[in-house]
Amino acid sequence: RRRSAAAAHTGPGRTADGHAVKLLVNVGAARGLQAAADADSEGVGLFRTEFLFLDRAGEPDHAEQVAAYRAVFEAFAGRRVVVRTLDAGADKPLGFVTVPGEANPALGVRGLRTARRHPGLLDRQLAALAEAARATGADVWVMAPMVSLPAEAADFAARVREAGLPTAGAMLEVPAAALRAGALASACDFLSVGTNDLAQYVMAADRMNGELADLLDPWQPAVLELLRQAATAARAEDRPVGVCGESASDPAMALVLAGLGVTSLSMAPVCLPEVRAALRRHTLAECQDLAARALAAPDAATAHAEVQAAARWE
Ligand code: PEP
Ligand code: MG
Repeated sequence: RRRSAAAAHTGPGRTADGHAVKLLVNVGAARGLQAAADADSEGVGLFRTEFLFLDRAGEPDHAEQVAAYRAVFEAFAGRRVVVRTLDAGADKPLGFVTVPGEANPALGVRGLRTARRHPGLLDRQLAALAEAARATGADVWVMAPMVSLPAEAADFAARVREAGLPTAGAMLEVPAAALRAGALASACDFLSVGTNDLAQYVMAADRMNGELADLLDPWQPAVLELLRQAATAARAEDRPVGVCGESASDPAMALVLAGLGVTSLSMAPVCLPEVRAALRRHTLAECQDLAARALAAPDAATAHAEVQAAARWE
């Protein structure tokens, strides 16, 4: 029943009263690219570039990188593509980049931090992205993973512009970055919340440890409260703030995120119809009310159950 209701809607994400929440897809491999491009989305909210670097002895050369990025930009010509620069380390170890034997790799040299040791790797990736962007009609935005400080966002944005790409952003995955979201937002052009890592670091619960899945839950009110603060601060700086972690694909969570002021949601293509349909059934004020219920809940299970019960599903 829900499926047929979902199929009735197409087009841009918006609430029942017309408030826009962009619906974007996550892309992470050459396989599945065409299906992702064929989906009814407004573009890519998270292009994970790791696939190009994994399972090999060294860095792909310029031509190979340009070709891989071009394939994605061409598939999404005319639409926005948010590219994430290499996110190596922790759950994504990469032989020629990451430091072996770190005691706490999730707290170690990962994401943007790898550019401290390998600045050329980031600049070469940006150069290849810029060349691929020039050759295609996509609206390419570039963001860095695991940003902790406004100064890191400013430095990254300068390097992105230096490479010839106009739009630079920072991911909010580290609590310190989320707490300083206003300063981070003003140091670059947009923010994107990675709820997988943000939940891991807010809850101090390793995302690789299934035993702690209850703590890692993005419905934890503490995670939602930090997200609310960050989204409010980014909006005050007039910067878009998206969510690209797995939580964006949960229709009930999508309503809460819209209510918290998030401007785009990025997910697996298969999840788009249900999220689109859920948004269309609720006004922004109703989403805000659902968000307030989740924030007031004592725990993740109650937050989820209350939103699920209060939302309209048909
Ligand atoms: C996240 O952390 O939520 C995210 C989108 O990035 P990844 O899952 O690739 O770390
Ligand atoms: Mg992450």
